[in-house]
Amino acid sequence: MGRVRLYRVSSVVVRQRDLGEADRVLVLYTRERGKLAAVAKGIRRPRSKLAGSLQLFSHASIQLAAGRSLEVVTQARARDTFYELRTDMVRFAHASYAAELLDALTDQGMVDTVLFDLLLSTLAALDSGGDASAVIRGFEVKLLTRLGYGPELDECVSCGAEVEGRGQRFSVTQGGVLCAKCGPLGSGAHLSPAGLQALRELRHMDATAVSGKRLSASAREELARLMRAFVDSHLDRPLRSSAFLAQESLDSA
Ligand SMILES: [Zn+2]
Repeated sequence: MGRVRLYRVSSVVVRQRDLGEADRVLVLYTRERGKLAAVAKGIRRPRSKLAGSLQLFSHASIQLAAGRSLEVVTQARARDTFYELRTDMVRFAHASYAAELLDALTDQGMVDTVLFDLLLSTLAALDSGGDASAVIRGFEVKLLTRLGYGPELDECVSCGAEVEGRGQRFSVTQGGVLCAKCGPLGSGAHLSPAGLQALRELRHMDATAVSGKRLSASAREELARLMRAFVDSHLDRPLRSSAFLAQESLDSA
């Protein structure tokens, strides 16, 4: 046996599955190493020391042992378990969607501290009871922008003209806004001035500020539909959590 290499990371559990009798494989998004998979041994036993700190969405400081295929969790200390978002089905569903979307759009080992902080601040905003729909729209816009997918919100994706905020449309396939001249010629979706303004603001607001922002019912519905189509265009397959959110946004409309 060689020496086992140990290291510490700050992490959030974004996905998990049971393994064998009492173990669990965790997909962690970490500040220092990006996304990685690790085994938490014995975590499903009643007296496991890891269980409390490594629930889905928990932010924890953990120690890992480098493994051949999977890392092994050797210690975990909870920083924040985001208790409140577990008590509310709607907030939990939004957190599930954020974690699933980040997981789907990132590869293992791609380190990005901005994305780590975005995930943490989004979970914190959902936990503290902010407007879940606004928080998630902000998460989508910032995540996709950071990954280089846009959406383009300032210049027409067809002719490059500055979009003033009147008569514009939104093209999912072209990745952003169409100006008043190009809009009617293409296949863009309706995007109201208020909806465009909200998207532009969400790009730059942190999650805490976004969570205090109340979107009007019509802007909420418009942006949910539009961002859903835009996000879907960047995914290989639909997310499990998005069906629930689509139903929820219909119910609250
Ligand atoms: Zn144009």
